Amino acid sequence: MLAENLKQVEENIAAACERAGRKREEVTLIAVSKTKPISMLSEIYDCGIRDFGENKVQELCEKREQLPLDIRWHMIGHLQRNKVKFIIRDTALIHSVDTYRLAEEINIQAKKMKRIVPILIEVNIAKESSKFGILPEEALLLTEEISKLDSLRIEGLMTIAPYTENPEENRPYFQQIKNLSVDIANEKIDNVSMNTLSMGMTGDYMTAIEEGATIVRVGTGIFGARTYHT
Ligand SMILES: *Cc1c(COP(=O)(O)O)cnc(C)c1O
Repeated sequence: MLAENLKQVEENIAAACERAGRKREEVTLIAVSKTKPISMLSEIYDCGIRDFGENKVQELCEKREQLPLDIRWHMIGHLQRNKVKFIIRDTALIHSVDTYRLAEEINIQAKKMKRIVPILIEVNIAKESSKFGILPEEALLLTEEISKLDSLRIEGLMTIAPYTENPEENRPYFQQIKNLSVDIANEKIDNVSMNTLSMGMTGDYMTAIEEGATIVRVGTGIFGARTYHT
C-alpha cells in the first residue's frame, strides 16, 4: 500500500518537473515519517527512499538507532537549543534555523564534533503568527550574521506555506521565497549558498516544484493521515 502511495507521489513529482522544464534529479523527496512506526519507514526504505524527515529530536534519535545507517535524517521541526547536541552528529540537514541563538548553539556543538553542519534558514513567508521562522524582510540580515559562524554552512531556505485546500493559493508564497533566495544569493555572502529550497508538502508539493523547490517534504501523501495519541 505504501509502495502504491509512493509511486503516485513519484509520478506527480515527475509530472511537475516536466511542466517546469526541470530534471527529476533536481528535486529530493523527503519522506516525513513523524508519528509513524519503524515498520512503515522500513517499507519505504525498501522502495529506495533514503531521505527521512522528523520534527522531534527524541523520535528522530530513536528511529535512527533502529534503521540502516545510509539514511539521511532531516530535522524539519522547531528545534530547542538544549536538544541540539543530540542530533548534531548524524543529521544530514537542519531545516529549521530561525534565530541567531539557535545557530550559535549548533555551531558550538558542531565544533565539538569537528563537523561542518549544513543548515537552512526557516522563513515564515506568509507571516503567520502560529508559525516559526524569520520574517522575510529579516532573512538577509540573519543569514549574514549566521554566516560568520564557521562550523555550519547555510545551504538555502525552508518554508512551511499556509495550510490550504487549494495549492494555487500558495503559489505566490513559493514565488516570494524563491525570489528572496535569489536576492540573498546575489549578495554573495561567504559561507552561504542558496542552492537548496525546501518547500512543498502533501497539499502543494507539485506547485512548489513548479516554483523552484529542490526539496519537497511529503508525509501524508506517502504514509497516510497521522493520528496523534496523547
Ligand atoms: C509534517 C510536516 C510535513 C509533511 O506534511 P504533510 O502535509 O503530511 O505532507 C512537512 N514539513 C514539515 C515541517 C512538517 O512538520
